Amino acid sequence: MQQGRPMIVMSEDSQRVSDRDAQDYNIQAARAVSQAVRSTLGPKGMDKMLVDSMGSITITNDGVTILEEMDIDNPTAEMIVEVAESQEDEAGDGTTTAVSIAGELLKNAGELLEDDVHPTPIMQGFHLAAERARAEIDDIAVAIDPDDESRLRKLAETSMTGKRSEVDKGVLAPLVVDAVSAVTRTYDDGKPTVDRSRLFVETQTGRRPADSEIVAGAVVDKDPVHDEMPRSVEDANVLLLDARIEVTSATADPEIAVDNREALQEFVDRDEQELKEKVEKIADLGADVVFCQRGIDKLAQHYLAQEGILAVRRAKKADLESLSDVVDATIVNHLESAEEADLGHGDVVRDEDDELFYVEGDDAPVATVLLRGSTDHVVDELERGVEDALDVVARTVTDGRVLAGGGGVEIEVASRLRDYADSVSGREQLAVEAFADSLELVPRVLAENAGLDSIDTLVDLRGAHDGGDVRAGLNAWTGDVEDTFEAGIVEPAHVKEQAVTAATEAANLVLKIDDIVSAGDLSTDKGDDEEPMDAGGGMGGGMGGMM
Ligand code: ADP
Ligand code: MG
Repeated sequence: MQQGRPMIVMSEDSQRVSDRDAQDYNIQAARAVSQAVRSTLGPKGMDKMLVDSMGSITITNDGVTILEEMDIDNPTAEMIVEVAESQEDEAGDGTTTAVSIAGELLKNAGELLEDDVHPTPIMQGFHLAAERARAEIDDIAVAIDPDDESRLRKLAETSMTGKRSEVDKGVLAPLVVDAVSAVTRTYDDGKPTVDRSRLFVETQTGRRPADSEIVAGAVVDKDPVHDEMPRSVEDANVLLLDARIEVTSATADPEIAVDNREALQEFVDRDEQELKEKVEKIADLGADVVFCQRGIDKLAQHYLAQEGILAVRRAKKADLESLSDVVDATIVNHLESAEEADLGHGDVVRDEDDELFYVEGDDAPVATVLLRGSTDHVVDELERGVEDALDVVARTVTDGRVLAGGGGVEIEVASRLRDYADSVSGREQLAVEAFADSLELVPRVLAENAGLDSIDTLVDLRGAHDGGDVRAGLNAWTGDVEDTFEAGIVEPAHVKEQAVTAATEAANLVLKIDDIVSAGDLSTDKGDDEEPMDAGGGMGGGMGGMM
């Protein structure tokens, strides 16, 4: 091969950006994502209205929901969305915080790169800083008594803050705490454990959020399929069926040609026979109640009623799943192969006013928070807030550590990291300092979103912390810097630790890339027209809408 001529190994359509261009491109994409959710942070954060390609609307303040619904069309941006998802999985809250910190880490890293600091010491410095930050968070955290209901309520309230659920936090926070306590067990070692898989949220439209309640079992918002069926069955054997109770034979096809009366009658008889057999099978199993995820034929409904069996059709998949926990049943996919052992046991009680079933199992406790609200949009956003609060309270009862909120932890940890930076040698020191600066984004944005001057707030906060006030944070309601712990703005320590971890991992992942090779343009959503993002290298690929 001739000297100096590059060997061509890529197709003409493919694109490649390297070194600083690649870094710039990635940093800008990541920042665009974090910018998009930042305005929702904190109690005074705004909501976003997301309209999907089918025209259906979600109104939310929840970081991970926004990012998942945003139809992001850029590979780097998608890595940041994963930060939110891992935060949601690991901690159940703090997604906006994690994404915002990741964006700020990358912004500050960009400035270091600009000053010719190599990515390796930046990544190393971030890694050191994150480790130290987690240790400091643990040091600052205080133990919470898992029986301290009033503190746990504050925790639930703080986590609902800024969401639709906040308006009704007075009723919802106690419900969340009671629900968690209903599924908490303390074993011999004295450590409480919460079985989160036994906590459910169910929604019903039509009444006010203040009418929400907690039920010691599952809630199924369905009606019996037939008027002659029993409405409630106590001490019931419950069959959970993910199969149709309908005719499977050829006559189900309306197109079939039938040329004489006898043949027609024969078909009808055969259908009747098949349905009868299905219902007999259910009766033989000993089922008193059937929750069926699919359809039930009219005639089968009639036979079921004759057998005195209560049946519900088109139950939600999620309902069947929670029911299987509650009554300890196996979901049956083929009626033919169903066995007695697949059935569960419990009380199925009809609430005629609310037109729902309450289902309680025999032993292991279960709690359902039944949320009510005027419309689907309202209950959906309530549900997101309450799910977060359930996670937060559940994990805190197990983990036992809480912190003062309102940006106080971030300021304290930042200040301790700056002290720590002095002991770090080389360029890594700059990265540790940049990390400290990045954490301060949280109080800055909280102040901004509350309509306050973020510089003033930051100065006040730093002053208070320098004076030894470890719990000084911003109370967004009053606009004052005060002991937020006393003001009832409390957060779980593990949410902050996880946010630091997730943000650092994402930032380092992005920083390690110095070469982007793409087959085709850099869009992850092929075939769409998209506005190109103005990033280094002038490559196509952008972020769909919303920016
Ligand atoms: P995330 O998705 O990160 O949980 P949120 O919108 O729930 O985002 O905001 C969480 C942040 O809001 C936390 O830093 C928390 O301390 C702060 N916060 C909650 N309530 C208040 C309040 N009353 N005043 C100031 N900050 C608050
Ligand atoms: Mg939150």
